[in-house]
Amino acid sequence: MLIVMNKNAAASEVEAVCGKIRKLGFTPHAMPGADRTAIGITGNSGPVDPQQFRDLPGVSQAIPVTKPYKLVLREIRGSDTVVEIPSPNGVVRIGGDVLPVMAGPCAVENREMIIASAKAVKAAGATILRAGAFKPRTSPYAFQGLGREGLQYLAEAREETGLPVVTEAVDIEGVDAVEALADIIQIGARNMQNFSLLKRVGRSDKPVLLKRGMSATLDEFLQAAEYILAEGNYNVILCERGVRTFSNVTRNTLDLSAVPILKRLTHLPVIVDPSHATGIRTEVGPMAKAAVAAGADGLMIEVHPDPATAQSDGPQSLKPDDFAQLMRELARIAEAVDRRMG
Ligand code: PEP
Ligand code: MN
Repeated sequence: MLIVMNKNAAASEVEAVCGKIRKLGFTPHAMPGADRTAIGITGNSGPVDPQQFRDLPGVSQAIPVTKPYKLVLREIRGSDTVVEIPSPNGVVRIGGDVLPVMAGPCAVENREMIIASAKAVKAAGATILRAGAFKPRTSPYAFQGLGREGLQYLAEAREETGLPVVTEAVDIEGVDAVEALADIIQIGARNMQNFSLLKRVGRSDKPVLLKRGMSATLDEFLQAAEYILAEGNYNVILCERGVRTFSNVTRNTLDLSAVPILKRLTHLPVIVDPSHATGIRTEVGPMAKAAVAAGADGLMIEVHPDPATAQSDGPQSLKPDDFAQLMRELARIAEAVDRRMG
């Protein structure tokens, strides 16, 4: 059930509807949009009678929802969610006209390289630093990341550059440490349907970057996001990072049409990761430009000071100079679609 309030409904009227929902034993989710508030109901196992809400003061409509997700639906906000990340360089917004780029190496390898990476991507125009301290690796013998030590170096890189940090939590045990340090908690493709992990970050006060599972449908992707919102965390950023197909030229196949489709279905921001989508350095730029042209709300791009020596994902990592050149080219694409890289 979705209860849409009148444009000029008073806060007390919104609260009265929420109170009624609580009295029924359910959980209200009041989501203020640009020009009206809508209230989602969770915790109900069967349909809720809309009639009991329609006559309450300030209520415009009570709409039954038949989809397996509701809080992510575009209808609930009536406008785009803009996730705000405070930073010493000013608030970074994800979901508005200015497109943030999250850039940095696949993994934190040591203090010097993450600080050098942060400085290089900042100089090129990135506004968020990405790097994994906990790495989900296919082989148990591959570099697993520096763990807590890596988080510490990320904090130092943020201190040096002012760039907010997005980094992955790979399991429930690690969430506390990531949450304490990160500005955005990343949930990787392999964990998109780790439902207990989704619930845990749903109870966090940090925004969550949720990557699409490599074989997830968009419906499954949105239901995974719904897990996080249902726990009360509405600051979720979706990330298309390529899906598995029969094509074996690239590491994955970038599903670019996911961008406009998700934007139509949900109010959440949608960004694209062309690095994991292609796995090939030369293909990252073209797909990054295509993503901006398709309406993506931002990008995540792997950049390494010396990709040849990278402990993970070297072949898809851009060199800092190539990244700087790509940022200049992206500015022209963004302008063509009435947006701006920032
Ligand atoms: C990453 O961004 O570091 C990563 C592991 O990506 P994905 O979860 O999309 O494979
Ligand atoms: Mn990587």
